Amino acid sequence: MVTERTGGCACGAVRFVARGEPKRVANCHCMTCRKAHGAPFVAFVIFADEQVTVTGELREWRASPPYARCFCPHCGSRVLGRENGETELSLGAFDDTGVFTPQYEVFVGHREPWQAALPVPQFPAMRGNP
Ligand SMILES: [Zn+2]
Ligand SMILES: [Zn+2]
Repeated sequence: MVTERTGGCACGAVRFVARGEPKRVANCHCMTCRKAHGAPFVAFVIFADEQVTVTGELREWRASPPYARCFCPHCGSRVLGRENGETELSLGAFDDTGVFTPQYEVFVGHREPWQAALPVPQFPAMRGNP
């Protein structure tokens, strides 16, 4: 039986189901993610598009095409991003805590000085371009 994990936006208008295990889990400290989420960093849980079903209306913003940052038009929650056949679900949008742990961090030059690096690979920019 395939594991299903659920989540959604703050108001509940957008819901998602993710099936199976993610491809990877990452923290992003880049300035665009920081501002888009209004948070000092963002954790993403990355699945193949086929693993994720979304219900409800999303709007998107493409600051760095083709990456689409998708949000609920009612409450503004940044629920997921889409790029190259992958859906990056915001870790904080899941219903349960303690399920996913970041495996690497990117754009670490923008990490807040009060936040310690996790004991995982650190990338100054995108993954794979250290
Ligand atoms: Zn909402
Ligand atoms: Zn980012």
